[in-house]
Amino acid sequence: MEAQNLAAILARIDAARKGAIRPAPSTRLVAVTKTHGVERIRPLLDAGHRIFGENRVQEAQGKWPALKSEFPDIELHLIGPLQTNKLRDALALFDVIQTLDRPKLVQALKAEAERGERIPDLLIQVNTGEEPQKAGVAPADAPALIALARDLPVKGLMCIPPADTAPAPHFALLAKIASEHGLPWLSMGMSADFETAIRFGATHVRVGSALFGERSQ
Ligand SMILES: *Cc1c(COP(=O)(O)O)cnc(C)c1O
Repeated sequence: MEAQNLAAILARIDAARKGAIRPAPSTRLVAVTKTHGVERIRPLLDAGHRIFGENRVQEAQGKWPALKSEFPDIELHLIGPLQTNKLRDALALFDVIQTLDRPKLVQALKAEAERGERIPDLLIQVNTGEEPQKAGVAPADAPALIALARDLPVKGLMCIPPADTAPAPHFALLAKIASEHGLPWLSMGMSADFETAIRFGATHVRVGSALFGERSQ
C-alpha cells in the first residue's frame, strides 16, 4: 500500500508542478513517518524513497539510526519542536532541522558550531497564523531571527498554516518573506494542501496521512 501511495503522491506532485505558473526549481517529498514503525517505512525505502520527516527527537532515535546505517543516503528532517536539551541528539541524527524558531536555539546552534560540531541545513519556522499555541517565529519577528542566524546554514522557511482556514495566504506570506531574504527553500504543504503549496513555490512538501493513512494518535 505504501509504495502505491508513494507513486500516486509523486505523480500528483509532478502534475501540480506542471500546472503551476512558477514552481520552485524542484519540489521534494518529505515522507512523514511519525507514529509509524519500521515495517511501514521499509516499503518506501525499497521503492527508492530517501527523504523522511519525524516530529520527535526521541521517537526518531528509536527507529532511524539502524535504517541510516543500512541506507546511508537517507535524508532525515526534524519537523517538530526542538528543545535545547535535545539539541546534541538532534544534531547527531538529523540532516535537516526545519523548526528553528527562537533566538535561544540560534545561540545554542552557534555555540555548537564554534565547538566544531557539524550543523545540518536549517529552516526557520514561521507562525504565519500567529497562533499562540503554535511554534514558530511571528512574521514581524522573522527578519531579526534570520539576521541573528546569518552565520548558520539557514536554507529557507517552513510553516504550518492554521487548521480549517484557506492555506494559500499563508503560503504566499512565507514565500514573500523567503524571497525578501534570498532564502531558496520553502517547506510548506501537507497531505490536504500540498498541491496548493506547490503553486506558491514549495521546495519541500511534508506528507504523512496521504502516504500511510490516518494516524491513530
Ligand atoms: C504530521 C506533520 C505533517 C504531515 O501531516 P499530514 O497531514 O499527515 O500529511 C507535516 N508537517 C508537520 C510539521 C507534521 O507534524
